[in-house]
Amino acid sequence: MTVKAYGAHAADRPLEPMDIARRAPGPHDVQIEIAYCGICHSDLHQVRAEWAGTLWPCVPGHEIVGRVSAVGGHVKGFREGDLVGVGCMVDSCQHCDDCEAGLENYCDGMVGTYNGPTDDPPGHTLGGYSQRIVVHERYVLRVKHPEEQLAAVAPLLCAGITTYSPLRHWQAGPGRKVGVVGIGGLGHMGIKLAHAMGAHVVAFTTSESKRENAKALGADEVVVSRNEIEMAAHAKSFDLILNTVAAPHDLDAFLVLLKRDGTMTLVGAPATPHPSPNVFNLITKRRSIAGSMIGGIPETQEMLDFCAEHGITADIELIRAGDINAAYERMLKGDVKYRFVIDNASLST
Ligand code: NAP
Ligand code: ZN
Repeated sequence: MTVKAYGAHAADRPLEPMDIARRAPGPHDVQIEIAYCGICHSDLHQVRAEWAGTLWPCVPGHEIVGRVSAVGGHVKGFREGDLVGVGCMVDSCQHCDDCEAGLENYCDGMVGTYNGPTDDPPGHTLGGYSQRIVVHERYVLRVKHPEEQLAAVAPLLCAGITTYSPLRHWQAGPGRKVGVVGIGGLGHMGIKLAHAMGAHVVAFTTSESKRENAKALGADEVVVSRNEIEMAAHAKSFDLILNTVAAPHDLDAFLVLLKRDGTMTLVGAPATPHPSPNVFNLITKRRSIAGSMIGGIPETQEMLDFCAEHGITADIELIRAGDINAAYERMLKGDVKYRFVIDNASLST
């Protein structure tokens, strides 16, 4: 079946309307009519070939929400009409240690929602900037938020889980001081989630204009990271710093804010490496630099349920598909509060 989508034919070409094919649902598949899809900075990295291995045409989008329109004969967990989500992956090997632990995101055979290997035409997966997607039921999430919040739920499928998982892994909670660096799509979710988990949250931003907003999101304190005096006031005080910045930068400025045994987890994935940090900033306080990639399917469901229970959604700006290229330019300038979400109904008009 042919559906409408928005994608690019080359790294230096803008995204444009295109028709793509979706398979008929197999026995374990769920067919979803996509209502909304968030725009992640990873979409921009991938479609502009800032990361290795982009395949063309590229239809990005891995913050997908919508309604089930058909299910295969063996599907047990979903029915036509259900509100569901799909995040960053649509398949994995399903039998390695990682998959068995529910950490499909770390499986070597993980298949991304776009740009991953598939038998479907054109030979690589095509993402959520499209009217419909067909996904194996194992990778489909249940949405329990009220339907009127659906557009603002979409970003939870990547920005939400990518911040929730490291916050849980490094035990953000009461009595812990947590920093969130970069207040974009991921960072604003990091603030909301760390706050809901009961941590003392400090937001780090390069944008003076986000100082007040970050407090409204749930930050207890806000630091403009270009201000050395403000930075120095937090020296040696953090248990955990979640760094979401999408560009290479000086990690030492944040490492020195960790207390003994503190960890800075990098989730931002810039196109080129950060300058190597100073080893003395690690060894003198037994500090760690770590990384984390999205989250497994069970934890993604746990995150969605946690957000539904605590009334958490993303702060979004809803756009039409024709505005995607302009939205990318604004995202590069940090000019979005805090996530663009595509109204996929606009693909058909
Ligand atoms: P975003 O909305 O563009 O937010 C990034 C924020 O970083 C900006 O709003 C800005 O916040 C800050 N920043 C500071 N200097 C910057 C610079 N020179 N260029 C860009 N940003 C700068 O991006 P996002 O969607 O949150 O994604 C952030 C990064 O995480 C991207 O690299 C993305 O690919 C990656 N990512 C990783 C995973 C994973 O699994 N690890 C998952 C999703 C995304 P301030 O204005 O507050 O300074
Ligand atoms: Zn993403």
